[in-house]
Amino acid sequence: MDLVTADRTHLWHPFTQQRGWTEEDTVVVERAEGTTLVDAEGRSYIDGVSSLWCNVHGHAHPRIDAAVRAQLEKVAHSTMLGLTHRPAIELSRRLAELAPAGLTRVFYSDSGSTATEIALKMAYQYWRQRDEDRRRFVCLRMAYHGDTIGSVSVGGIELFHSLYRPLLFETLRAEPGDVADMERLLSEHPGEVAAVILEPLVQGAAGMLMHPHGYLRAVRALCDRHGVLLIADEVATGFGRTGRMFACEHEGVAPDLMCLAKGITGGYLPLAATLTTERIYEGFLGRFDEFRTFFHGHTYTGNPLACAAALASLDVFREEQTLEALAPKIDLLGELLEPVAARAAVREVRRRGFMVGIELAKFPLEARVGHRVTLEARRRGAIIRPLGDVVVLMPPLAITEADLRRLVRITGEAIDAATAAAEPGRLAA
Ligand SMILES: *Cc1c(COP(=O)(O)O)cnc(C)c1O
Repeated sequence: MDLVTADRTHLWHPFTQQRGWTEEDTVVVERAEGTTLVDAEGRSYIDGVSSLWCNVHGHAHPRIDAAVRAQLEKVAHSTMLGLTHRPAIELSRRLAELAPAGLTRVFYSDSGSTATEIALKMAYQYWRQRDEDRRRFVCLRMAYHGDTIGSVSVGGIELFHSLYRPLLFETLRAEPGDVADMERLLSEHPGEVAAVILEPLVQGAAGMLMHPHGYLRAVRALCDRHGVLLIADEVATGFGRTGRMFACEHEGVAPDLMCLAKGITGGYLPLAATLTTERIYEGFLGRFDEFRTFFHGHTYTGNPLACAAALASLDVFREEQTLEALAPKIDLLGELLEPVAARAAVREVRRRGFMVGIELAKFPLEARVGHRVTLEARRRGAIIRPLGDVVVLMPPLAITEADLRRLVRITGEAIDAATAAAEPGRLAA
């Protein structure tokens, strides 16, 4: 059986309607170098969405490859339950140094979903152990925090989440970017709310929705005023995406809990971390028989290979001055997108740093223009993946100016080609 047939026979892909999948050409990624993916037929593509928002310094980066290989010579996996190891220890110290002030404790897991589950459980248990029964969470409409039941409970994307509503815990939903609405919710539920959870600055999976300047800082102040914890989900925004190491830095905000994943290993291996303060940490201390332990942990928590990749990725940030080199590319990206935004087929371009959402004009749902843009871009040598009719660009921070130009040019051409066949209001064949 050839590879593609075997895929169609045995695989079930995430967020994918398998019926469409088996009818379309399949790209089998064989290898990658820098910001280029190469398929089994030898065709090259720009990795326009950083392999689902996680690649930072490019693929096959010699520094990170060497670090993973060196760790592999020592031990590939050892548990964090009852044991510890050097890469996890060193990474925790480095993360604490980098993170907003006060976030000095690191709890590892392996995906963004688990990082947010952990933050929610920590917040709830923290209050319980202070004899406060705060069981409500405030989240934002259109939020995305992962796909496990807890993280879906604080999610607000109808298409992904509404079906599961009967399985979820109830939350209070605030209107994104609306300080008065947040104030109202917190005022109406005194003593009931454990934490506010949000994606700082940019709601990624919602289609790159941008919060107004000052919103994050205002929410931090409201949380302080109402004695509520703030959970910042930096899974997508962390590690340079918005132009700073963490999005919270733009508004000088330090959350009580911060969730990291995607870019943490430079996009190499699955790793996540939930950072918190000594205040929260100390709430879990007690005699063994007080049962204040945080009863949570995944088998591959703090995997040594992943931690080694993460440490090397942080070294590369320093050695290559990744954030300094990014600033002019962010400006260039803004300029390159201007003609894209001017197209009739484009309703709006939203951008913060290297996070871009190109919202297309209203086309009939069945025209699937977002998806068609993806296919057109692929034919022209770029891999992108839309969120509905929002075309997402999220290239690795290491992309060259030349490839950034090429990526935006291909995207513009792909939008033209895909939308020519489906004029707004007219139905595509
Ligand atoms: C992707 C994402 C998650 C989920 O991360 P996984 O590793 O896919 O579980 C959580 N929060 C945000 C903001 C994300 O973008």
